[in-house]
Amino acid sequence: MERPKISLVVIKNDIRLHDNPALFHAANQNLPIVVMCIDEKLTGSASRWWRLNAVQDFRKVLEGYGIQVIFSENTLVDCKMIVRLFEIIEIYYSDELPQLFLKALENHHTLFHKFRPNRLFSNFFIDTQIKVFTVFAKKAFERISEIDAPLPLPQFNNTHNSYCLHNIMMPIPQIKGVKWWREMENFWKIGEKAALDKWKSFRDSIHDRSILLYAKQRDIMSVDGTSLLSPHIHFGEISVRKILHEIKDIPEEQSVHRFILELFWREFSYHTLEHMPDYYYRSKLEYFDKVEWEDDELIIKKWQYGKTGCPIVDAGMRQLWRIGWMHNRVRMIVASFLIKNLNVKWQYGAAWFLDTLVDADVASNAFGWQWVSGSGVSASPYFRVMNPFLQSQKFDKNGEYIRRWVDELKPVKTKHLHETLNEQYIPLIVDLSKGKSIFLEKIKHAMIDRNTN
Ligand SMILES: Cc1cc2nc3c(=O)[nH]c(=O)nc-3n(C[C@H](O)[C@H](O)[C@H](O)COP(=O)(O)OP(=O)(O)OC[C@H]3O[C@@H](n4cnc5c(N)ncnc54)[C@H](O)[C@@H]3O)c2cc1C
Repeated sequence: MERPKISLVVIKNDIRLHDNPALFHAANQNLPIVVMCIDEKLTGSASRWWRLNAVQDFRKVLEGYGIQVIFSENTLVDCKMIVRLFEIIEIYYSDELPQLFLKALENHHTLFHKFRPNRLFSNFFIDTQIKVFTVFAKKAFERISEIDAPLPLPQFNNTHNSYCLHNIMMPIPQIKGVKWWREMENFWKIGEKAALDKWKSFRDSIHDRSILLYAKQRDIMSVDGTSLLSPHIHFGEISVRKILHEIKDIPEEQSVHRFILELFWREFSYHTLEHMPDYYYRSKLEYFDKVEWEDDELIIKKWQYGKTGCPIVDAGMRQLWRIGWMHNRVRMIVASFLIKNLNVKWQYGAAWFLDTLVDADVASNAFGWQWVSGSGVSASPYFRVMNPFLQSQKFDKNGEYIRRWVDELKPVKTKHLHETLNEQYIPLIVDLSKGKSIFLEKIKHAMIDRNTN
């Protein structure tokens, strides 16, 4: 029997209708469209929870146009199934199409169209690696006007209806077991509409200055001074190009400039991973991976579950556990504490983040961890060790953030939140200055060994 002809759109981290080149161009063909949302292997549970909800939401939207959405975990099996059922005339996809997919399509006369919808720069900076962020950011600002304008919504019509072919309704899997995501469910709204609404309210608040400006507030943990858009951006529920285009003409505004810089940090982390594909598990400065790090399971567990006795660290780790997200400055503090006070290698921390963050992103996460440890590209120097007490004193002056996440510390006077608490709380699991000296010694020795070998 002749297989129905279709356009296949393969989506990973661009779960949206607006500014979606794959969907937009597929809609310009007069073929029924099937959308295949594929899973990611390197990130963990919290991010998977987000993805399943995002795909669920997206499926509802596309169903409204008669377009089938298939969620695929095992791409080879699913690809073979699709290839058996349909004749794929064109395939529209983002970033890399899994090799297994290419194999399943071997000997088919399919036309391939590749896009990079979740990036600001589609082709710049690909050829040569830039290793210093300030250089990257300077070039990025120079070329800001070349960033593609967002595309309009795709115009679907009756010819795109794929339900009339095979209805291969595959259920989107449910996460089983204890409902650990209950608090996350209350905290986050998932999907394209939620992302656009959140962006709109953040953008407008910059414009009318009804909140203190981003540049001033972004480091203060107790206020929502940052956009909280990272999971939406990671899954592509909102286009970064759309964000940029709506604010780029006001770069002289300090907050907007600062916000764009953060988008460039994200871009820079992708750029780094593209040029160094093992960056997410291997230190750029190799001697970091030769150090004899501590791997006391109990100590690592205390860090993971926010039981270190250091209020700001525990607040951050509990925030992460409960809502799958942590404020950027606190990410730096807990990472510094793990590597530079507890002497645990950054890869342990990165793996925990990938499992527990809703915005878990292989590129940005590795970048963040290698930045803090001092082992990476354009990183903070290894000898810069954050003092968590000074950090909380400066950025959580009144202890609101700490109290919000650590119930036991609610009754404690503010000044005590920024110092070692004796009987009032869990004893601190490490002597900070001793831990720091050990770290500095370890790295110095590793550097000497490298130079003498
Ligand atoms: C150890 C460590 C691990 C990190 N892991 C991740 C991760 O897995 N996923 C992730 O998206 N971010 C990660 N970051 C970067 C940053 O912490 C988050 O992107 C930020 O906290 C998200 O909050 P926001 O959306 O309110 O950011 P905003 O301040 O509102 O910034 C806007 C957007 O810019 C991007 N951005 C901001 N800061 C950074 C940064 N330092 N690096 C890269 N992109 C940035 C994000 O897409 C963010 O949504 C990590 C940082 C550190 C120090």
